[in-house]
Amino acid sequence: MKKSRNTRQRAVILEILRRNESAHPTADTIYREARKVLPNISLGTVYRNLNFLREQGHVQEIHSNAEASSRFECNCPPHAHFHCTRCQSVRDIPLPDCLQNVQWDNTHSISSVNSMELHILGACSGCEPARN
Ligand SMILES: [Zn+2]
Ligand SMILES: [Zn+2]
Repeated sequence: MKKSRNTRQRAVILEILRRNESAHPTADTIYREARKVLPNISLGTVYRNLNFLREQGHVQEIHSNAEASSRFECNCPPHAHFHCTRCQSVRDIPLPDCLQNVQWDNTHSISSVNSMELHILGACSGCEPARN
């Protein structure tokens, strides 16, 4: 019984993440969306499920020092994140070629790389029109 409830909660959370992929929602936003479908769900339950999904590799947690709360997204191919420090928006940007093609060899004393996280902080064009 308990198992099927968890399964349903996780399905709802994953669906919210897929629908809002580009928004990189916080746990709080996911909680507010989830309550529309599951009125009795608690924020703690949302966190627990997000942790479970992260451990299972279905969800990625994005955290930068630019803000206090983590953002979440479905597990997708490696990419970098641009954080606007004014409006707090987070957008996906491709990893630079130099990072994708780098040879992690002994020169860096690294034997293998499992994941990469790159955060670029600045102002988006909506907050700060481009200067010529
Ligand atoms: Zn902005
Ligand atoms: Zn992303």
